[in-house]
Amino acid sequence: MSGHGRQMFLSRQPSVMVSHNHTHDYDVIVIGAGPAGSSAATRTAAAGLKTLVVEKETFPRFRIGESLLPYGNTLLRETGAWPKIEAAGFIRKFGASFHLADGSADKEVIFASGIVPGLDQTFQVERSKFDALLLDHARETGAEVRTATTVRAISSDAGGHRVSLAAASAGNPDDTTVVTARWIIDAGGRDQLFPNELKRVLDPSPFPKRVAIYNHFKNVPRAEGSAGGHTVIVRLPDGWFWIIPIDAERTSVGLVTTVDAMREARLQPADLFTRAVESSSKLRDLMAGAAPVMSFHVTSDYSYFRRELASGRLVLAGDAGGFFDPIFSSGVYMACHSAKLASELVVRAHREKRPLTARECRRYTRAVKTHAGVFQKLIAAFYDNASFSVFMCPRPPLGLAPAITSIVAGHSKLTWPIWWRFKIFLLVCRLQHHLPMVPDLRIAETAPTGSTRVRPSVA
Ligand SMILES: Cc1cc2nc3c(=O)[nH]c(=O)nc-3n(C[C@H](O)[C@H](O)[C@H](O)COP(=O)(O)OP(=O)(O)OC[C@H]3O[C@@H](n4cnc5c(N)ncnc54)[C@H](O)[C@@H]3O)c2cc1C
Repeated sequence: MSGHGRQMFLSRQPSVMVSHNHTHDYDVIVIGAGPAGSSAATRTAAAGLKTLVVEKETFPRFRIGESLLPYGNTLLRETGAWPKIEAAGFIRKFGASFHLADGSADKEVIFASGIVPGLDQTFQVERSKFDALLLDHARETGAEVRTATTVRAISSDAGGHRVSLAAASAGNPDDTTVVTARWIIDAGGRDQLFPNELKRVLDPSPFPKRVAIYNHFKNVPRAEGSAGGHTVIVRLPDGWFWIIPIDAERTSVGLVTTVDAMREARLQPADLFTRAVESSSKLRDLMAGAAPVMSFHVTSDYSYFRRELASGRLVLAGDAGGFFDPIFSSGVYMACHSAKLASELVVRAHREKRPLTARECRRYTRAVKTHAGVFQKLIAAFYDNASFSVFMCPRPPLGLAPAITSIVAGHSKLTWPIWWRFKIFLLVCRLQHHLPMVPDLRIAETAPTGSTRVRPSVA
């Protein structure tokens, strides 16, 4: 079951004074043990802060989000987890291939051909294994970990927080333990919506409501050689499919479409998925012998960003702060990146025995959103047919391809050589609407998600 169906509403308890002189049980409590929580906890524990990670599930647990970005490797190296990831036997990812649903256009993006050196490869990971590895690493670094334990309520004052924890084994929902901490890093993901002031206010959404329907499959064919580890993206008129190899046998396959298209189709998620596969010659070829290994998961309306990501002694990291759209596999990178910034903020203020200043909170929010904003522009280009034609062009004008490749590899820090090329790419995308700079792809002529219209395969 995806997290969407299990939203957790935590009630605010009456505020209890936590004085500056009071000895807290912990320096930091990290809510959630996804990549954001484990990365943040590893970093605060390594800096000598007494850290507790609270995770409501028992690991290993299923999670979607299996494709990493090469630009995130550095963050995983910094925490010391990288050698363990390299040794874990995950599939090596050297790039991605993009296809039109009827097979009439393809593009391969090879990370090594990007403008920024050193972003040649990363991994496709089964998240249950990857997240457990990161959590074990946080534990080995010195963080205390309580799994099967849910943060039920938080009361805060200027000095810190009182956090009510419910352990699943306790059986009685009222049987909670209270622990105190100076800091909270909330990395509880998107299904954890307790009503603190940071979580109430969202930015206006730049995207329509979308839904993802996904499963793991056996018997999905792969390309020969290093391309066998690619993420394969198949673009439909109103959505797309991802095909991500997660081990020697299993492949993660998901459909993303709009909530409106799903409503109009009036089909069960698994039937809509099957019908979308049937509507595309490319997908029919890839999924001809595919066998699902579990029941379908559905996650909807996952694109949002909270307006503020930090206040006095509370910082949101990863999906708890925001997430846009999975098309460019930015989620785990953004989780680890925001966890790094969040933990640096907390460690510095903790050493100086003070809460975060309003300026620090604004800067943190801006820093996270600046990176997210780069992905947001790329995502918008993907969904816009004219811009997608520019993206898919084998040789985009003005030699832009290597810079776009580096951004697709996750380089969301817009250094000058990338920045001006990205600006020009976006300009060309805008111009394409009025004055075609590259041949327009016939995207709208391929069959939409819920349609039975099947176009013949293009040889
Ligand atoms: C359809 C889809 C496809 C995606 N594909 C990709 C991809 O290919 N690549 C990629 O990088 N990203 C992808 N993502 C995004 C990715 O899944 C997330 O961005 C990433 O998991 C965020 O990590 P996190 O640590 O912030 O949160 P999570 O991984 O969600 O972890 C949060 C943890 O907090 C725990 N928790 C929640 N509430 C509480 C509580 N009250 N008490 C205790 N614990 C709690 C949860 O159990 C969970 O383990 C995808 C997302 C979607 C929706």
